Amino acid sequence: MRRYSAFAIAREAARFHSGWERAWASPEPKPDYQVVVIGAGGHGLATAYYLGKNHGITNVAVLEKGYLGGGNTGRNTTIIRSNYLQDASAAIYEKARSLFETMSQDLNMNVMFSPRGVMMLAQTEHEVRGYKRTAQANALQGVATEFISPGRVKELVPIIAIDGPRYPVLGALWQPRGGTARHDAVAWGYARACSDMGMHIIQKCEVTGVRQKDGRVTGVQTSRGDIGCKKLAIVVAGHSGRLAGMAGFRLPIDSVALQALVSEPIKPAMDVVVMANTVHGYMSQSDKGEMVIGGGADGYNNYTQRGSFHHIEETVRALVETFPIISRLKLLRHWGGIVDMTGDRSPILSKTPLADCFINCGWGTGGFKTIPGSGWAMAELVAKGEPGPLAAAFGLDRFREGRFIDESVAAGVAH
Ligand SMILES: Cc1cc2nc3c(=O)[nH]c(=O)nc-3n(C[C@H](O)[C@H](O)[C@H](O)COP(=O)(O)OP(=O)(O)OC[C@H]3O[C@@H](n4cnc5c(N)ncnc54)[C@H](O)[C@@H]3O)c2cc1C
Repeated sequence: MRRYSAFAIAREAARFHSGWERAWASPEPKPDYQVVVIGAGGHGLATAYYLGKNHGITNVAVLEKGYLGGGNTGRNTTIIRSNYLQDASAAIYEKARSLFETMSQDLNMNVMFSPRGVMMLAQTEHEVRGYKRTAQANALQGVATEFISPGRVKELVPIIAIDGPRYPVLGALWQPRGGTARHDAVAWGYARACSDMGMHIIQKCEVTGVRQKDGRVTGVQTSRGDIGCKKLAIVVAGHSGRLAGMAGFRLPIDSVALQALVSEPIKPAMDVVVMANTVHGYMSQSDKGEMVIGGGADGYNNYTQRGSFHHIEETVRALVETFPIISRLKLLRHWGGIVDMTGDRSPILSKTPLADCFINCGWGTGGFKTIPGSGWAMAELVAKGEPGPLAAAFGLDRFREGRFIDESVAAGVAH
């Protein structure tokens, strides 16, 4: 595949952009593959990419029921951070964050990684204690964060009302190398690189059943016929419970809609990401000038990929207290995605009761930021049949053994 470069842009501009190749091929499915990955979201595509790049396995198909990146990967608010409390989480989230630093070069696709800094406001004494504790844990884990004063918050984000009215800003957990990236480009970049390695990305191909013999996976039934495989990776976020059901096991996962909205574009007003967990909302400004606003998850299980008006009202009402200037903004659009929540708010990267079938899910409201780290760890699990150091703590057995990785920092709104 031809490389993207400044020279290529100049060349194509001179010939009316007639020479661009398709970014990825659309092949017909083969009868068999070494590995089938279900789900062409970021995590599925990254799994395929690192199977090829790190383990030399390229006889891979990624099956997607819709279009690639059309699930949560293309619906999230793109916050990237690694300031988690538990060591196992910090390790995989920081691995992912560090891979974002060089992703545009690695994939030869501009994913617009913008390490502009992520700030999590402390608006109660409880949060102050919690974030100070996290900052200390991060120092031990080698993750660069600090607890900053209200004055420093105001300096970094002049549009914040630090004095209240209900919840004054008492400080913040600040990760200067956290930030955002262009979500579609992450999916497109991995897809293009996978296709370049000869892998098959098959869109509009829904998996409807999992074939097995003598306790081992042998393939999948799909809307485009049966496809055999030696190993199967299920990477379908909010649909994980359904796929696990097809493979014959149950998951400790709730699927719920999580919503977000964007405003009309305005002049540059805020150049960091701010999360306000107490009032329940977060905001960043996109390169186009829109304020990207995220709210909470629905309080009941559902599979609707839609926004709803009560969420907009709750989220905007909460944020207006901290950012009074947004009260006059017009809303441009809002939407929802189905996220997969575990009880301890930590992911599952695991072998399953079905031999040679592996699952990656449970990233809940915060899995965009881990796409590269998760793909790296999942590829190792699939290639070797056993988890490597990044995935070892995230097995399904932890729910049976009561060995939870309780990520209070990851809970609720904190994407
Ligand atoms: C509104 C919102 C805001 C968010 N904000 C953030 C954020 O700021 N930062 C952050 O880190 N995370 C955020 N997240 C979470 C993040 O988007 C997800 O954790 C992440 O994208 C999950 O990626 P994935 O590849 O696992 O899933 P997805 O991108 O959902 O991909 C799974 C794919 O599997 C496909 N699939 C399902 N069933 C089948 C089947 N039977 N056969 C074939 N294909 C199937 C789906 O069509 C889908 O394309 C947010 C999520 C939402 C919804």
